[in-house]
Amino acid sequence: MIETLIKYNEIFVQNNSHGNTANKNIFDFSNFGSNLILTAPHATRSFVGKKEKLADACTGALVKYIGEQNRISNIIRTKFVPHKALISDFIAENKLQNHYFLDIHGFVAEPKYDVCLGTGYFSEEGYPYLDKIMAAAKKYNLKIKINHHLYKGCIGLTGRYQKTWNEPRVIQIELQKKIRDFYNNPETVKQITIPFFYDIIQSYK
Ligand SMILES: [Zn+2]
Repeated sequence: MIETLIKYNEIFVQNNSHGNTANKNIFDFSNFGSNLILTAPHATRSFVGKKEKLADACTGALVKYIGEQNRISNIIRTKFVPHKALISDFIAENKLQNHYFLDIHGFVAEPKYDVCLGTGYFSEEGYPYLDKIMAAAKKYNLKIKINHHLYKGCIGLTGRYQKTWNEPRVIQIELQKKIRDFYNNPETVKQITIPFFYDIIQSYK
């Protein structure tokens, strides 16, 4: 598992995490026809707020691996472009809005939590599948926070999706560095992070 993750990650870390700049498409869409789509919009560096944003390390390889192993469709940024390129526009262009989405990111700023979940502009009360994610987090003893003020999801895919289609179909999942860094914490990724996602995915089937 870890060797595969490291191999997959070579795509995203090349060119100082600008990814494969020769790739034709900015986003790679692996379509397994699932009801759920995983997204990793910051797998490489991206252009946010008129400047270059660092990649959310390891998220591209994790999403690719989890998607492939479970036959869950996934959309992953494969290269940096020096202009705004949004995954929400990709979803609209490809008419994929009639799916559920887990939008996977990484954070380092708030060490108190392992995972932060964002429900954007919608209230967490009754938000679809949120209870399942909370149950999985409890099972793996993950310290989790819903709608931390820094990670509510309003400015990401969650909020943009809600503004366009007005439905609670996206949840932003922010992962603390220590639970996604398969170079330094391979056992954590293997025993906790990957099984946590496998459990969540089962609830969407
Ligand atoms: Zn991010």
